[in-house]
Amino acid sequence: MRSFAYVVPDSVAGAVDALAAAEPGTKLLAGGTTLYDLMKLGIEAPPAVIDIHRLAELTEISTDEDELSFGAGAKMAEVADHPVVRRDYPALSESLWRAASQQLRNMATVGGNLLQRTRCGYFRGGAEFPCNKRNPGSGCAALEGLDRTHALLGTSDTCIATYPGDWAVALIAFDAELDVVGPAGERTLPLGELHVEPGDNPLLEHTLTPDELILRIRVPATPAGRGSTYHKIRDRESYAFALTSAATAVTLDAQGMVTDCRIGLGGVATRPWRATAAERSLIGEQLTMETARHAGEVAFAEARPPRTGAFRVELGIRTVTDALLTAGKRAAR
Ligand SMILES: Cc1cc2nc3c(=O)[nH]c(=O)nc-3n(C[C@H](O)[C@H](O)[C@H](O)COP(=O)(O)OP(=O)(O)OC[C@H]3O[C@@H](n4cnc5c(N)ncnc54)[C@H](O)[C@@H]3O)c2cc1C
Ligand code: SF4
Repeated sequence: MRSFAYVVPDSVAGAVDALAAAEPGTKLLAGGTTLYDLMKLGIEAPPAVIDIHRLAELTEISTDEDELSFGAGAKMAEVADHPVVRRDYPALSESLWRAASQQLRNMATVGGNLLQRTRCGYFRGGAEFPCNKRNPGSGCAALEGLDRTHALLGTSDTCIATYPGDWAVALIAFDAELDVVGPAGERTLPLGELHVEPGDNPLLEHTLTPDELILRIRVPATPAGRGSTYHKIRDRESYAFALTSAATAVTLDAQGMVTDCRIGLGGVATRPWRATAAERSLIGEQLTMETARHAGEVAFAEARPPRTGAFRVELGIRTVTDALLTAGKRAAR
């Protein structure tokens, strides 16, 4: 067993100070539902963890006419069940309650959820597998191996690992922003700039610096929220990661024309994916089976499917189509 120090700050400022003074590799600990797994697998080996999960400052949830704000330490279950989120932003609520299990959602936080790492079996499977993300320069076992659930979009020659989270997919569709804090103070980061594609450095997964902490996630208010949904297709109907998913939100005018459209894709890309060309294809159109399907085809036009995962192009197109039609029905109510 590898020992590590366990630090319990009594404030966010204390956590930032502790992180700044800590040895390289020190990690923040929120719900611990994925960090401890990664430590047991030997993928993460922090010399210390800084436990922030009891900090009340991080758990605040507020909703007003301008924006929703979720403290990074709010539990997935609390946000999923929040009455305003359920009523006005069903895609956000559904992305959370279709993730993991009730026990996990009771423990896991919405900040920790954003920074979960890929479920690629070779990455998690053991040091004997070539994996550029786990052991840079060693190769990628998935390129010639089991790749059924790997990414179709945003891949590189060094890594095709899928970003597994659901929540960030819905957040990216709503132009969410993060407030983060570090030794230099606070800054705001668009959620769309948090995760990065693997390129030639799959080890780099996000743009936070090691001494930064996510304070809260903010979502600008939009009428498109009511006309939204999160569809998730998986091998079994609960407690599984997405084969394909789509967060969709639309606004319709009095004639039923689409005036606003947002599409986030999950389970298919190396990062939460915003399908902007597909969104544009629907503006000014009636939302029908044909136009929704066309948007799905546009969303996957650049897909480079893994060898045994080609079925997920058609599955992804159908997921987007269905999610757009559901969003349209909700928008028309
Ligand atoms: C069996 C299983 C099934 C799952 N299924 C799904 C699923 O279908 N969909 C899905 O989306 N997720 C799924 N998950 C992942 C789960 O949602 C995550 O484990 C959880 O959201 C992580 O939150 P946490 O608070 O426990 O994070 P932790 O494990 O505590 O931390 C995760 C990472 O985030 C960092 N971190 C945490 N908080 C902050 C902060 N405020 N600022 C900066 N860094 C921070 C930590 O340092 C760590 O690197 C599953 C997990 C398991 C174990
Ligand atoms: S896809 Fe990425 S994470 Fe998986 S084996 Fe290849 S390099 Fe490693």
